[in-house]
Amino acid sequence: MRVVLVGPPGAGKGTQAQFIASHLSIPKISTGDIFRANVSGGTELGRLAKEYMDRGDLVPDEVTVAMVRDRLSEDDAKEGFLLDGFPRNVPQAEVLKKMLAEFGTSLDVVLNLVVEDDEVVRRLAGRRTCRSCGKVWHLVFDPPATEGVCDACGGELFQRDDDREETIRRRLEVYQEQTAPLISFYADEGILQGVDATGPVEEITQRAMSALRRFAD
Ligand SMILES: [Zn+2]
Repeated sequence: MRVVLVGPPGAGKGTQAQFIASHLSIPKISTGDIFRANVSGGTELGRLAKEYMDRGDLVPDEVTVAMVRDRLSEDDAKEGFLLDGFPRNVPQAEVLKKMLAEFGTSLDVVLNLVVEDDEVVRRLAGRRTCRSCGKVWHLVFDPPATEGVCDACGGELFQRDDDREETIRRRLEVYQEQTAPLISFYADEGILQGVDATGPVEEITQRAMSALRRFAD
C-alpha cells in the first residue's frame, strides 16, 4: 500500500507511522530520516539541504522533492511505503502525484490523524524537561516522584518554550492554515480517511488499520 500520514503536532504521528508501517510491512519514509541519510551520506542533495538548514532556512521544495524521488525509487519502496512529513502543501502533493504516475502507480490512502486542539495542548503543555539529563516527564502521564525534580538524575525540571500553551496554539494555527488546503486536495481525490487519534496508542493504530483495510483493494 502507498500511504501518506498527516496530523498536527502532538497527534503521535511518529509513533503511529512506525506501528502502521510495521503492520503493513512497508518502509516508513519520513522527510527527517531522508534529510539525515542524505546529509550523513554526503550526497549532493544532502550538501545542498545542509547549506539551507545551517543558515536556519527552509529546505526548498525542489531539493526535498528530489530526495523523496530518490528514496521512493529504492527497492524496498516498490511495493508500498508510508510517507510521514511529505507532502506538506498542495504543490508538493501535485508533484508526488506526477512522480507516482511516472512510476506507474498512485497513492492508495491519506490518513489524517484527528485531535482537538485542547487535547494537543493537554498532551504537550504538561511536558517538563530535565535541565541536567534532558529526560522528558509529563505532569499527568509520567509525573516524577517529587514535583519539579528529575527522578533519573535529581536535576531541575523546566518547561521548554515549545511546550508553552501559547506556543503550541500558534503552531496549531500555522499547521491548520498550511494543511487545510492539502486535506481538501486529498478529499477531492477521494482518498482521504480521518482517524480519531485520541485514546490509547494501540487503539489508534487499530483504528488506522481498519481504515486502511477499507482502501486495500
Ligand atoms: Zn535528569
